[in-house]
Amino acid sequence: TKYIVVSGGVVSGIGKGVIASSTGLLLKTTGLKVTSIKIDPYMNIDAGTMRPTEHGEVYVLNDGGEVDLDLGNYERYLNVTLSRDNNITTGKIYSEVIEKERKGAYLGRTVQIVPHVTTEIQDWIERVAKVPVDETGLPPDVCIVELGGTVGDIESAPFVEAMRQFQFRVGHDNFALIHVSLVPDMHGEQKTKPTQTTVHSLRGLGLLPDLIACRLLVPQPLSPATKDKISMFCHVTSKQVFGVHDVSSVYHVPLLLESQGIIEYLTHRLKLDDIHITDEML
Ligand code: ADP
Repeated sequence: TKYIVVSGGVVSGIGKGVIASSTGLLLKTTGLKVTSIKIDPYMNIDAGTMRPTEHGEVYVLNDGGEVDLDLGNYERYLNVTLSRDNNITTGKIYSEVIEKERKGAYLGRTVQIVPHVTTEIQDWIERVAKVPVDETGLPPDVCIVELGGTVGDIESAPFVEAMRQFQFRVGHDNFALIHVSLVPDMHGEQKTKPTQTTVHSLRGLGLLPDLIACRLLVPQPLSPATKDKISMFCHVTSKQVFGVHDVSSVYHVPLLLESQGIIEYLTHRLKLDDIHITDEML
């Protein structure tokens, strides 16, 4: 399985979910089977007990799982049926680890966030990524993992660390990271500093962005000069910098990403052609 992790910086609610589902959709158009996992770094087991005015609408899955609305995006964009296990929360991970501890699974050892919680997170992702989610009944080729919250939060720290370890567990060819950042537009001037800062902290945590998706909360696209500046200061090539400006419908976001070469980039980066070749041989 190939994993594409989508993280976010600066502020929440900048469209990480839409960028993650759009990326999944584009890969699906190339013939790959795509699944997704949403990570919500809160202590609640699920969204079922949270006030809708605070958390937004609860999305109910076929198996009765009460989850974040992002899972609804994935089901619609990818035409898949997900289960409650496709939504990981801090609450679910901790309750799993504590249950194991009571059963004596760690007997004799001190149970810690690193490695026990971070290992549980990785095991969960690997297990769920293999579950068939579409009418083919076959295991997916690609799993999009959306990390809720923003990098640098205390809440998301165990998940960020789990992802750092995970890149080595699954190998470089099977792990790519898209970091979604905010580019504020100040009276027509596109500011790169928040992006520089968040990419810097991401690197400090041991994660290197393969793509930086720059969200502009205005209808103007990312300018070539801003793209070059982000490339220069964030240590990536300019073809790894994507602009995602405000569009009239979120269904335009896949086209925006496609026009900037996301399919070609990920195909090359994750050697996705190998999957197509293996499929043809079967
Ligand atoms: P996050 O996952 O970062 O919390 P979402 O993907 O849920 O953010 O998006 C937050 C809101 O912004 C949603 O209401 C979504 O419709 C809107 N949105 C996201 N991307 C765009 C875009 N490129 N143009 C316009 N609206 C967008």
